[in-house]
Amino acid sequence: MSDQKPKHKARIERNEIVGDSNNSQHKEISRRDVLKFISVGLAVVALSGSVRLAGLAQERSGILRPPGAMDEDHFRSLCLSCNKCQEVCPQEVIRPVKLTESLETAGSPTLSFAKNYCNLCMECTKICPTDALLPIRQSEARIGIAKVMAERCAPWLGNSCGHGCAHSCPFDAISMDGQNRPHIKSELCVGCGICVVACSLSANQFFTKGIVVFPIDSSEPG
Ligand code: SF4
Ligand code: SF4
Repeated sequence: MSDQKPKHKARIERNEIVGDSNNSQHKEISRRDVLKFISVGLAVVALSGSVRLAGLAQERSGILRPPGAMDEDHFRSLCLSCNKCQEVCPQEVIRPVKLTESLETAGSPTLSFAKNYCNLCMECTKICPTDALLPIRQSEARIGIAKVMAERCAPWLGNSCGHGCAHSCPFDAISMDGQNRPHIKSELCVGCGICVVACSLSANQFFTKGIVVFPIDSSEPG
């Protein structure tokens, strides 16, 4: 043990001191480049890891389909990923599933309430050429079920907010408890996403809003 330390120290001294000034500069630049390369590499790995995790989380929780999609197996067997439903949606809430969300169903339509909600106009159900989206009546539409994300929702964390979710719901599917915390009445929720848009929290690639709509048959309860 005692004769190992000096050898190690000597190696460090050789790298940093031995050689003329030009060589040591080259070594410094090269070392800096290597460190930069490693840190960029780590950042890319971390980012791709988080995107992959987000994708896996999405896959586990299921893909939210437009109204008229009955069960997921039936939908997948008929959907051509032709994007006709996306083209007619006046609310622009239909987008293709990303590869990072699902390898199996990438390109098929999903709903995103990042900027807007579904107004249940049912136009997407009328245009579908294969009945992957059945032309159901508005009153029959059940896109998903909203869930309050207690770890994000302000009142659930003891903070105040304007309760935009409850005020905006046209189906009275959100009630408040004695501490002004929102609860979903799953029997009334149709998954239109108005509450998601109304939530005052901002979402990004790592965090959701305080309320999220999940598919009815997903592992996430409403
Ligand atoms: S029902 Fe209307 S608003 Fe909702 S997803 Fe279909 S086309 Fe868009
Ligand atoms: S998704 Fe939100 S706004 Fe729409 S019915 Fe459900 S609770 Fe109400």
